[in-house]
Amino acid sequence: MTKNRCAGCGIALQTSEKDRPGFVPEGALAREPVICQRCFRIKNYNDASSVAIDQDDFLRLLGGIASTSSLVVHIVDLFDFEGSLISGLQRFVGSNPVLLVVNKIDLLPRVTNWNRLRNWVQKQARANGLKVADVVLCSARRNIGFDRVVETIAELRGDRDVYVVGATNVGKSTLVNRLIADYSDLHRELTVSRYPGTTLDAVHIPLEDGRSIIDTPGIVYKSRLSEVIPRESLQAVLPEKPLKPMTYQLNAKQTLFFGGLARFDFVEGDHQSFTAYVSQGLPIHRTKLEKADELYEAHKGEMLSPPSREGLESVPPWTRHTLRIQPNSDADVFVSGLGWIRANGKSGALVDVYAPKGVKVLLREAIV
Ligand code: GDP
Repeated sequence: MTKNRCAGCGIALQTSEKDRPGFVPEGALAREPVICQRCFRIKNYNDASSVAIDQDDFLRLLGGIASTSSLVVHIVDLFDFEGSLISGLQRFVGSNPVLLVVNKIDLLPRVTNWNRLRNWVQKQARANGLKVADVVLCSARRNIGFDRVVETIAELRGDRDVYVVGATNVGKSTLVNRLIADYSDLHRELTVSRYPGTTLDAVHIPLEDGRSIIDTPGIVYKSRLSEVIPRESLQAVLPEKPLKPMTYQLNAKQTLFFGGLARFDFVEGDHQSFTAYVSQGLPIHRTKLEKADELYEAHKGEMLSPPSREGLESVPPWTRHTLRIQPNSDADVFVSGLGWIRANGKSGALVDVYAPKGVKVLLREAIV
């Protein structure tokens, strides 16, 4: 093998961009054999780093799955369900079964009805054109439901390879590391299979029966708020602790600001309550609609933060989404990466949501 390809996964090596596939530190080029940092980590630390690519590259990478016989494990983030679901996945998997692993369930309030939630997930997946063989709810971080994930993979896999796919930040590395730990004999050194020049970016982790777990890079979706805001703001937006629903009794012509990242105007409708499910790190400010523009101009980057004043420049400008909530509809106003606002009223409402351009905003059946 030549020195310009990784001896682990076959990707072309490069020394300039740390977060891009194929990165190897200069100093490591002298080692024999030369492997990329990602393979090095898997081999030595059991730590799959998240390499990110965009949807087009990812779908190209997936292009070959349909002609294989494999199980596809699609990991999604419950907090950003519609934002982290890979649209178009069905076309690429062919007749291979898809196991939908819904991670981060620890973020939902304890009172959640898990059966109802499972049905909700199944319904949403169907509505998004994804046929799933099974759904497993779990929390990689809190170690909830993980045995079920392993069992279901074993059941559905038979003697096939397992492709693991997901958007960035859904907890894919956390889960893959758990899978590696579960499937491999840790006393034996993990080796990364050698498929020089094939399956760009994907990491093959050999299983004992000669099959592999194939960990694909995380996909970056610019339609998720978490991908378009500065890194410093991310901490406030990504919840660490279970969501604490915040209920607001609103009259029409009142506004809620979510830091300076999004704005929710209750434009028309009877007095009713709305419940925000967002990270506790994100301050919510309430004001009158008529004062909202002025308040924003005067306080963005300061009282209305994140983002900070400096961070504001890198965030795309807001676009307005007008949504009509039907009477008796039990709906969530969902903003990808921010969370959702449950409309509790029975009489319907007209709302305007402002969010950075390109971020997915939609109405959906209430999740809880
Ligand atoms: P990847 O980018 O998909 O590989 O995701 P990572 O495994 O790096 O996880 C992304 C972020 O989500 C990290 O901050 C993790 O700590 C967090 N995370 C992963 N699993 C869970 C989970 O089950 N619950 C919660 N609350 N956070 C999680």
